[in-house]
Amino acid sequence: MTPWPSVVDEIARFRDEIRELPVSSPTDPERLRRSLEEGYDFRRPRPLKALASEVVALLREHAVQVTHPRYFGLFNPSVREAGIVADTLAALYNPQLAAWSHAPAACELERLTLRAFARALGLDPDATAAHFTGGGAEANLTAVLAALSDRWPEARRDGLSALPGRPSVYLSEESHHSFVKIARMAGLGTEALRFVSVDDTGALDPRAVRNRVREDRSAGRPPLLIVGTAGTTSSGAVDPLGCLADVAEAEGVWFHVDAAWGGAAALSVRLRPCLAGVERADSVTWDAHKWLSVPMGAGMFFCRRPAAVRRAFGVATPYMPETGNTGVDDPFATTVQWSRRAIGLKVFLSLAELGLDGYGELIERQAAMGDRLRAKLADAGWTVVNRTPLPLVCFSHSRLEADPGAVRAVAGSVQRRGRAWISDVVLRGRPALRACITSYRTREEDLDVLIEELDRGLAA
Ligand SMILES: *Cc1c(COP(=O)(O)O)cnc(C)c1O
Repeated sequence: MTPWPSVVDEIARFRDEIRELPVSSPTDPERLRRSLEEGYDFRRPRPLKALASEVVALLREHAVQVTHPRYFGLFNPSVREAGIVADTLAALYNPQLAAWSHAPAACELERLTLRAFARALGLDPDATAAHFTGGGAEANLTAVLAALSDRWPEARRDGLSALPGRPSVYLSEESHHSFVKIARMAGLGTEALRFVSVDDTGALDPRAVRNRVREDRSAGRPPLLIVGTAGTTSSGAVDPLGCLADVAEAEGVWFHVDAAWGGAAALSVRLRPCLAGVERADSVTWDAHKWLSVPMGAGMFFCRRPAAVRRAFGVATPYMPETGNTGVDDPFATTVQWSRRAIGLKVFLSLAELGLDGYGELIERQAAMGDRLRAKLADAGWTVVNRTPLPLVCFSHSRLEADPGAVRAVAGSVQRRGRAWISDVVLRGRPALRACITSYRTREEDLDVLIEELDRGLAA
């Protein structure tokens, strides 16, 4: 009784059926918990085949289906077959990438893939350290730790208390909240985060950053890092990376670009200009599991200061296998993780299947869907309230202005009906609806369904 035929069938069936399924359906947490407790008494073993089909039913029913073409949500993509195949093979062979010598093929496929994406960012692959991470949060943490050990190597032994003042991180109010956790994890404390205000497009003002750095410095706070975000989570804003690179260079501060979602713009001829300056960053975060249509979790970290990365994570042990004199770094000694899954296999397989231009076309098609959505919203009487070349649209309606809860109510009513999924957000104090094109399978007719659902939500 092997579970395989049914699992393989489900893979094919789900992808065909998803367009007709609800994007989400409400779950009562108490009922779900009770039914699981009754169904799974771990004192009694069960056959895998039956369990697999029960898990399929649970995952189908109790989840927001982020791979649905009408999921207009939070940077979670539809996954391509290449990613499903690769993740399955990674589970089958379970290659251990902590040490290069345990998994030469997987390590080198990752390296090859990362070199191609480094080139797409305008970085010199021979002068860039790069590795896959669990996601953007880990890549951002890696940047902070690399910058710390670059600037204050002594802190590796003596800790932050040995530093002349509290190292500060400069970032926009719209930057990702992973930095809040990172400030805690790295021992900097959230007081180290110097949030700088944004202009009315949601982008950072480089002069304000420079002034803040200088003020802090004269008050005894040494700057550690300037973070530019390429594609903010709320509104898809792109900070002026070139100008931020100028400030960082003039002030002698590490420049990190968080392009977790927006990095994929590097693959599109049309969108590439909005990332201008990213090639001057000391480090870059780019998530494959955001806009490159691979399953979670696959982040990427690039760094133009390989020595800083080695210094931050280098460690000697009496038990890890020796790589010998092959000129390769062992991932456990250059990254946050130790035991390491073959994260990059799915990215390699997707890139090799599509080619760089094929990837670029997917990105551009989604950007075009974003443009179509903006036009359709305007035609239907909605007002777009953000500005970005990326396919993330924030919008509102004159009829929602009076009541502060009205925007959230529209999002809730769209979600409840289950034909489409959107979220809401607050932009510079004002509530707005937020729709992001996250699926390479989203078509014009899916946008029409969204508009219909919004109109119903408005009327409700
Ligand atoms: C998603 C995101 C992150 C966090 O990445 P994870 O992959 O969720 O860990 C960080 N920064 C930005 C801009 C993001 O969009």
